[in-house]
Amino acid sequence: MGRQKIVILGVTGSIGVSALKVLDACSNQFELTGISYHENDTLAREICQKYKVSHLCCTSPEKRDEFPEGIAVHPDLKSLLDIDYDAVLIAVVGAVGVMPAYYAALAGKRILLANKESLVMAGSFIIEAARKNGAELLPVDSEHNSVFRLLEGQSSVQKVIITASGGALREYPLVGLAEVSVENVLKHPTWSMGAKITVDSATMVNKALELIEAHYLFELSYEKLDALIHPQSFVHAILQARDGSYSFHVYEPDMVYSIAHTLFYPESAPPILKAAPVDEMPALTFQPIEKERYPAFFLGVEAGKEEGVFPAIFNAANEEAVAAFLDERIGYMKISSLIEEALEGALSQNFGASMEDLFAADEWAREFIRQRL
Ligand code: NDP
Ligand code: MG
Repeated sequence: MGRQKIVILGVTGSIGVSALKVLDACSNQFELTGISYHENDTLAREICQKYKVSHLCCTSPEKRDEFPEGIAVHPDLKSLLDIDYDAVLIAVVGAVGVMPAYYAALAGKRILLANKESLVMAGSFIIEAARKNGAELLPVDSEHNSVFRLLEGQSSVQKVIITASGGALREYPLVGLAEVSVENVLKHPTWSMGAKITVDSATMVNKALELIEAHYLFELSYEKLDALIHPQSFVHAILQARDGSYSFHVYEPDMVYSIAHTLFYPESAPPILKAAPVDEMPALTFQPIEKERYPAFFLGVEAGKEEGVFPAIFNAANEEAVAAFLDERIGYMKISSLIEEALEGALSQNFGASMEDLFAADEWAREFIRQRL
C-alpha cells in the first residue's frame, strides 16, 4: 500500500508543526499532499520544500501573490479539499474551521479535528453530515482524544470529566486580574500553543468550548459532562462507569500523542516521544473551577446548554474580545464582560436555526463586540 495522503489546514500553527513531527517520524507511511497557511509564508515555503507539497492554499488576502513555484495554488480551502487525499487535519484557529470541517464531512472524508470552534459553532450540522456521508471524525483536542479512547469498549458511562490546567492566571491574585498584561496571560504553565487558545486557557473559555465540543462529538448530555482543574495536565480525561469506578487517560502534555493517535487510528501509533516514567510523574491533583476567577467558563456552559445560536454567539464574541485583548485594546477582565453582554443582547434577537443563521449570529456577535470597543 502507498503512503497515506495527508492535508493539513493551518500547517504553520502550533498543532500543524506538532503534526509535522509525527510525519517526520513516520515518513514512509504519510505524505503531505496539501497545506494551508494564513500569514507565515516563510515557514510555509520551508514546509513546501521539505515535504514536496503539491497543493497549497494561502488564506490571507494580503499574501496572495507570493507563492512558491511548481505548486498547485488553490484560491480557498474548499478548492484545496477537492484534491485527492486520505485524511485532513483541521488545525486552523477559530470559526474559519467550520466550512472545511462541514465540507470534508459532506465529502465523507477522514477528518482529524483539532479546531474546536467548528463543532462549537455548527456541531449538530457537522456531526449529521459526517454520519450521513460516512465521514470519520477523529478528535485531536487532547481531552477529547482521551475521552474517545476511554469510551472504546465502554457500554456504561455515568460521567465524563475533562481536565483544565487552569491557565496562566490560576494563582494570580484576583484583585490584579483587571490589569494583567498580555505577556503574563501568554505564559502557559504546561502547554505550548497558539496565542488565542492560550488566552482561552487563562479565561477557561477553552474548557467551555471543549464541553460543548464533547457534547456534540460524543452525544453526551451536559449532565454527564464535567470539567476539573488539574494543574499538572497529565490526566486529560476521566471516565466514570455506572458502578462509580473511574478510568483516567494519562500522558505528558504534548499534542504529538493525540495527533499520532488520529493519524494511525485504528492501528496503534508507534512511540514517537519518550514517555515519562510513571515514577517520575508529578503528584496529580484536582480541584473545582472557581466562579470568581473564571466567569467566562460558566457563561460558555450556559450558552452550550441554551443550544441554537448561543454557542456560536459565545464563540464569536470571545474571538473578537480575545483579538482586542491581544492588541491591548481592552483589559483582561473585559473579555468575560463583553461575552456576557453579547449573550444578553442575543436574547432579544430572533435568530433561526439553519447553518446560514449560525453565520448570521456569528457576524452579529462580532459586530456587537466591535461596537463596544
Ligand atoms: P495557532 O495560532 O498556533 O495556528 C493557527 C493556524 O491557523 C496557523 O497555521 C495560522 O496561519 C492559521 N490561521 C490563522 N488565522 C487564520 C484564518 N483567518 N484563516 C485560515 N487560517 C488561519 O493555533 P493552534 O495550532 O494553537 O490551534 C489551532 C486549533 O487547534 C485551534 O482551534 C485550537 O483551539 C485547537 N487546539 C490547539 C491545541 C494546541 O495545543 N495548540 C490543543 C487543542 C486544540 P499562519 O500562522 O500562517 O498565520
Ligand atoms: Mg484541549
